[in-house]
Amino acid sequence: MGFGLHHSCNISVKSRFETIIANGWVYAGDGKAPRKADIGISEGKIKAIGKLGNSCGKWVDATDRAVSPGFIDIHTHTDTNFYSCPFGDSRIYQGITTDIGGNCGSSPSLGADGKSIKDFYSELSELKTGINFQSYTGQGTLRNRVVGSNNVEAAPEQIARMKALLSAEMEAGSIGLSSGLEYTPGSYASKSEITELCKVVASYNGLFAIHLRNEDDYVEEALQEAIDIAKDSGVRLQISHLKAQNAANWHKAPNLLKMIEKAESDGIDIAFDRYPYIAFSTGLSTFIPLDFRQGTTNDILERLKNDKTAKKIGEYAESRFTKLGGAQNVIITSGKNEDNIQYTGKNLLECSEISGLDPWPFVRRLLIEERVNVSIVAFAMKEENVKLFLSHRLGMPASDGSLYSPEGPLSESMPHPRSYGTFPRFIGKYCRDEKLMDVSAAIHKCTGLPASRLNLKDRGLLIPNYYADIVVFNPDTLIDTATFSEPHQFPKGIEHVFVNGQHAIESGEGKNVFAGKVL
Ligand SMILES: [Zn+2]
Repeated sequence: MGFGLHHSCNISVKSRFETIIANGWVYAGDGKAPRKADIGISEGKIKAIGKLGNSCGKWVDATDRAVSPGFIDIHTHTDTNFYSCPFGDSRIYQGITTDIGGNCGSSPSLGADGKSIKDFYSELSELKTGINFQSYTGQGTLRNRVVGSNNVEAAPEQIARMKALLSAEMEAGSIGLSSGLEYTPGSYASKSEITELCKVVASYNGLFAIHLRNEDDYVEEALQEAIDIAKDSGVRLQISHLKAQNAANWHKAPNLLKMIEKAESDGIDIAFDRYPYIAFSTGLSTFIPLDFRQGTTNDILERLKNDKTAKKIGEYAESRFTKLGGAQNVIITSGKNEDNIQYTGKNLLECSEISGLDPWPFVRRLLIEERVNVSIVAFAMKEENVKLFLSHRLGMPASDGSLYSPEGPLSESMPHPRSYGTFPRFIGKYCRDEKLMDVSAAIHKCTGLPASRLNLKDRGLLIPNYYADIVVFNPDTLIDTATFSEPHQFPKGIEHVFVNGQHAIESGEGKNVFAGKVL
């Protein structure tokens, strides 16, 4: 069936709508079954839904297609990648109309350049992006700014200073605080320090997105810490990329859900997100123990070069390889030095063979040559747990990915395929094909549910007077195509994307339309 634009609008008289998306199966985003209807759009908003006739400037045939609110990715690292690709390629081509950045403790605001969230937002507004965006303030970034990069306790006046900065960020439209408590220097913050910061977030009804202090052997203790922080500060809690990592911890998944349900019944406003893949993506530096990651990059390099400290780091790294089920489960995904590009996309055993070095000596050399900045993906999670988390009432998909593009500077690394495929994979593979839940429930988890967590006003549902962030897709063919070896691939089945009423993707093709807003 053809799916082009049909110029069958009646434009002889003044049109009732700028655009009509006609005859599709409209999923409101509230989890209810779809209904066959037209959607009339004008001035960036949905004006009417029903049988609307043909008085419009543009008529888009959506017969046999699913019409859904644009997907909202509640956990991304898109941030400054907009500068390289303002349209938002890996995001918008999978039907995402809103990205939430500044996650895992690291935000573009309050970094070394001294920018506030207000500065960053106005830069994005000036740049003009293809999709909407809003950001958290990173607790690691904030601590680095005020306390520095070392493992020290924050003094009372430093805590007061962090609270004041955070308060200004909230005033300027930050969603809340994000943490990456497995990373330095955010990890140096105590529970009570984080609780203090969360009181500020709570006073603005913001959200605390916590990347837990531990996601494997101590994941239950780490989740309990998050729940305690929410209880003591009154903050609304979003557990980031919930997981029970490494085979020895897979059995903990049901208990993590029990703990979350218990917290909810104790009155905590809690939910979580999760990417629909069994591999995680992070820095190779996470194989260095936290204490050896203190200070500047040069400090870390010194420790790697020193045989004595490197031996200790190596013992830790090797124990991590074992817990991950072996070095073959870790894949190098970036390398900038010419000699190291050959390792991109290879697992550590393959790298060993090529380099003639055992995994740890290879990792040590790579970290030194790349100045600690190397990314990896590692296969460490269990498929059943991914499904368990995604199907839970309080769970929602989110990519934990970033903005990439098959062209230009953002095409050069080997990102985790989640940056391209999260939502089509969740709906197409997990829900349509594997019947994890029906498509209406799946769409709710991609739209209305994250919108409600984020207190997004007038978005995430298809109802009159809401912003016209809309995706039209083929429910029979929707699927991700990005893989770990070929990540730079757009999904199939996304046919039209509207952002604030503007037609940004038409019949699968991106237009020169930059209608995104900072929310
Ligand atoms: Zn994280």
